[in-house]
Amino acid sequence: MGYTGVKVGNVGNKQNLDSCSINKEMSEIEFIRNIGFVAHIDAGKTTTTERVLFYSGRVYRIGEVDDGTATTDWMQQEKERGITITSAATYCRWKDYNVNIIDTPGHIDFTVEVERALKVLDGAVIIFCGVGGVEPQSETVWRQADKYKVSRIAFVNKMDRAGADLLSVVEEMRDKLGANAAAVQFPIYEDDELKGIVDVIRNEAVYYEDDLGEKMVRKPVPSSLSEVITKLRDELIERLAELDDEFMDKFINHKELKESDFIKTIRKYVLKNKFYPVLCGSALKNKGIQLLLDAICDFLPSPADLKVVKGLHPVKGEIEEIEVSPKAPFCALCFKVFTDPFVGKLFYTRVYAGKINTSSIVYNAAKKSKEKITKIVRMHANKQEIINQAKAGDIVCLVGLKETTTGDTLCDPKYPLLLEEMKFPEPVVSLAIEPKTKADQDKLFMALKKLEAEDPSFKVSYNSDTGQNIISGMGQLHLEVMVERLLSDFRVKARVGNPQVAYKETITKRVESVGKFVQQTGGRGQYGHVVLLMEPNKKGGVVFENKIKGGAIPRDFIPSVKEGVFNAANAGILGGYSVTDVKVTLIDGSYHEVDSSELAFKVAAEIAFKDGLKRAGSVLLEPIMDLEVVTPLEYLSQVIADLNVRRAKITSIADRKNVKAIRAEVPLREVFNYADVLRNLTQGRASYTIEPFYYEEVPKEILVKILGT
Ligand code: GDP
Repeated sequence: MGYTGVKVGNVGNKQNLDSCSINKEMSEIEFIRNIGFVAHIDAGKTTTTERVLFYSGRVYRIGEVDDGTATTDWMQQEKERGITITSAATYCRWKDYNVNIIDTPGHIDFTVEVERALKVLDGAVIIFCGVGGVEPQSETVWRQADKYKVSRIAFVNKMDRAGADLLSVVEEMRDKLGANAAAVQFPIYEDDELKGIVDVIRNEAVYYEDDLGEKMVRKPVPSSLSEVITKLRDELIERLAELDDEFMDKFINHKELKESDFIKTIRKYVLKNKFYPVLCGSALKNKGIQLLLDAICDFLPSPADLKVVKGLHPVKGEIEEIEVSPKAPFCALCFKVFTDPFVGKLFYTRVYAGKINTSSIVYNAAKKSKEKITKIVRMHANKQEIINQAKAGDIVCLVGLKETTTGDTLCDPKYPLLLEEMKFPEPVVSLAIEPKTKADQDKLFMALKKLEAEDPSFKVSYNSDTGQNIISGMGQLHLEVMVERLLSDFRVKARVGNPQVAYKETITKRVESVGKFVQQTGGRGQYGHVVLLMEPNKKGGVVFENKIKGGAIPRDFIPSVKEGVFNAANAGILGGYSVTDVKVTLIDGSYHEVDSSELAFKVAAEIAFKDGLKRAGSVLLEPIMDLEVVTPLEYLSQVIADLNVRRAKITSIADRKNVKAIRAEVPLREVFNYADVLRNLTQGRASYTIEPFYYEEVPKEILVKILGT
């Protein structure tokens, strides 16, 4: 096992480190909260985040989603759509706490972003709508949080709306999500208007006396609510006593249960994902947000609760642990790269252990290279605050890194470690994009490269046959957003095709293939000649190896051969889709003293590759998706019957309280507009999640349809 706190303390003879300063730093970690607001679209995440920033003093006026001025929704596309797409990281201070908020998107196409965010945060606030309750999409979000074992509290928003019902949402959380949930707050209405909130733990009422929600007054619980509050308090006590012996002991021995007993016990079981306190309020009407911030600090974990972070030692190949502490060796995960058209690249980084200063040198264990940090900034939506140091537990942006990409581990050069890599599925939807004018060509190329570096689920390739750039991503909306960024942020003028399924071509046989490009037209001619061995290779992509012996082709021309192979692989012979799972070995060739050129070898390689595809039993592969449909029982048979027509392999049908969850593997081609299909089949009552799973050969009858022959 690797670095324990003690071991690291001894490294470099640092026993005489001032223990006071270490204790101070350790206690600083306990006052950090890295959290996300997680919810399905429209539950009120952005509105809630906006209020949190207002009450914590980060913004001086409240921005609104509805008029496009929300602080975190700052990308143009988000302003237009009123939805949150990028996980913008925002920092604020609440009382003694430093709170980092990772804003997570709710749309299915952006699951990569949601999962990326969930991986780096310690706790989450799940927002439900007080009227809609636990909708199928909230279930999806809840399950994602389960997958990453994120500790949670719930905030039932929109309590100002007619029909909002806190206790039925709590009931639904228990029924549909199987969550051990209990209300710790209750709304106070006067003349149907939300006036305040009862704090069940402290047994007092909090009234808001102004529209901005800044003047809060604590008063006794109104007598009209005393019965329901007593019932809720008893229920809370019972649930906590069932979980915790110490709490039970105090309860049965009629000892006084103090506020601190509640907070300590709730926190303990929130951390274990065994209890979920439910709060309520109205973000739009500015009610309940300060209490929510208190609850975030009281109940959600600090980075120190993680205790250790595990990773793979890149040389020893063993799993090692680093203590989550500022005195341990530096170890951090870059979870997002964003190109700001003005500032350049920002590397969103979660520091797990150790500390760095501006100008620190860190080691990128994934890329095996050293990187120099030139600036450390805290992000406040799209504004930045320069800081001098980042420590264990912090979420910051680094500037100056050259080779780092999303998912890379940055560490102390002396203690290399690879944190668990983030896995990104292959993009499955693509579209063609062409510059409108010659002048836009370079601009488009540069912009596409930048976007590709930011987002591992976005890929760019060039089809030399049609002269088009092909961009691929996780779904239609994903590509739409990228195109809008190209057109507006990067100001590229381009023609854009319709989204399509991203098929791929591969070979089934091993062949040798010759490519010759010879032109003698007086003056200097062209001469390139290559022999390629092409073999199926399940590892993905195209792999090139040079095995030329005896200088049959001079070394200077080899990169051109490789370039020719990769160019040709961008568009295969079956419908022009990119080629994958092929190993190409350059085994022979010849050259001409005068006529050979880089261009001639590039073209020869393209000819050889295309010819090889024709004889190597090329087949088309299609993306198969992992689909989960959650539907009320009454629509089960319709949904299954429809899936059967769509070439789906149903792998399981599970019972969830009141609903059924159907799991299936289905070709993307068959579910391209599944949202509409499912809405019609189930009157909008079912929901689904879909993720790329694997690629599989297209059946013959479908191939004919795709190729139109
Ligand atoms: P997000 O998609 O989860 O980020 O949700 P938004 O914050 O964009 O809110 C979606 C819509 O619900 C917007 O029209 C908001 O004005 C509205 N909304 C948000 N919070 C509340 C609330 O507490 N009460 C009411 N009545 N509407 C709200």
